Amino acid sequence: MTAGHRAPRRVGVVGAGMNGLACAWFLQQAGVDVTVVERTDVAAGASWGNAGLLTPALSVPLPEPSVLRYGVRALADPRSPVSVPVRADRDLARFLTRFVAHCTGGRWRRGMAAYRPLNEQALEAFDELARGGVAAPTRVAPFTAACRTEREAEHFAAEIGRVVGAGQAVDVELLTASELRDQLPMLAPSMRMGVRVLGQRAIDPPAYVAALADSVRACGGKIVTGVDVAGVRRDGGKISLATRDGQYAEQFDAAVLASGAWLPELGAAHGVRTPVHGGRGYSFTVDAEHPIPEPVDFPGLRLACAPYRGGVRVTGIMEFQRPDAAADERKFATIRESAAAALTTVDWSSARDHWVGARPVTSDGLPLIGATATPGLHVTGGHGMWGMTLGPLSGKLLAELIVTGRTPRELLPLDPCR
Ligand SMILES: Cc1cc2nc3c(=O)[nH]c(=O)nc-3n(C[C@H](O)[C@H](O)[C@H](O)COP(=O)(O)OP(=O)(O)OC[C@H]3O[C@@H](n4cnc5c(N)ncnc54)[C@H](O)[C@@H]3O)c2cc1C
Repeated sequence: MTAGHRAPRRVGVVGAGMNGLACAWFLQQAGVDVTVVERTDVAAGASWGNAGLLTPALSVPLPEPSVLRYGVRALADPRSPVSVPVRADRDLARFLTRFVAHCTGGRWRRGMAAYRPLNEQALEAFDELARGGVAAPTRVAPFTAACRTEREAEHFAAEIGRVVGAGQAVDVELLTASELRDQLPMLAPSMRMGVRVLGQRAIDPPAYVAALADSVRACGGKIVTGVDVAGVRRDGGKISLATRDGQYAEQFDAAVLASGAWLPELGAAHGVRTPVHGGRGYSFTVDAEHPIPEPVDFPGLRLACAPYRGGVRVTGIMEFQRPDAAADERKFATIRESAAAALTTVDWSSARDHWVGARPVTSDGLPLIGATATPGLHVTGGHGMWGMTLGPLSGKLLAELIVTGRTPRELLPLDPCR
């Protein structure tokens, strides 16, 4: 404990997604009384319809030179899986300008140095949740990148090579066409080689987040839904969270903003200046005569598929759009078209659970975890494509900071006020 620091007794957490609930859970382990306030319901944001891959081997800063090359090409193609609105508003323009500035090899390597210690501990944080009573399993699940051409496979292998070059151990196998066919016979014949990443895991995202919420409640925490927090104020040494109509107003010793892609709405007034934008993804679930037994990524098609409740959850698209904008129904067709070129034996007419959700993407590709400029107010979020993988560890490290007053060294580069 830092001299002069008093551990808070009551902490309010805004947002019942993976990040808010994980932080609440780890705070409870340290004896803190937590209340999670959520405007909709548990897992109402990005934590519901995602692919559920726990893949620290792939958790890397999003801005890098090849994203820039791909992005510029993709923006010219209306059916591309990457899109921005025709007229970018001021926030999006600011976000994209900063994002582009971070697409350099040097910045990527600096960002990766921050990811590496997180990736190395990410899965252990899930084990800790399991030991502490979170009743949903994580499945050991190798992750296969299925590629149509040597070039696609080389590109994916080069991405992994950069992670290894940053000092992170990653265990991969290269699969020839026949090995790929043996292991995943339901892939389309156009998939000619594979790169298999071992030692990864997967979850059923809605079930996992619901189990985490159950565990928070079972340990005495409150989860209050239907509360849209509009104001966060520090008053007489307390942090108050309140709705616009005043129907909900509570004071806490400390608070955590874990409001996903909506973070800027509450964080900007408290010194969180790094732009965060919704990078929206789409997903749906289909039945298949032979569902995939493990997660498969199709890097050339910008799709990831995962086994889900007896079927296949198909996910894709990176659409820079406001988190609450209506779903663009054409995106489902874009994904379906790509997926039809990747998977056989699928009954496309069974498509259900159509979903759009906003990844909280930061302009520098690093999460935001730590204290804000307002004493007692903290943030965990901005994990972009990897908030399920990194949520539990982020919550654990932030809980340590809140309780002891000491910033764990893993969080130093992730300062929300950087
Ligand atoms: C298609 C897709 C696939 C993905 N696949 C993976 C994957 O395989 N592996 C992986 O690790 N990650 C994946 N991700 C990313 C991951 O889903 C996100 O990074 C993660 O869910 C973010 O969690 P969060 O708790 O920060 O935010 P969210 O889950 O969005 O939670 C934020 C919550 O805050 C609430 N909220 C917001 N504002 C307020 C307010 N003012 N008052 C009260 N409540 C508020 C929202 O309602 C919401 O419930 C994927 C994302 C998408 C879109």
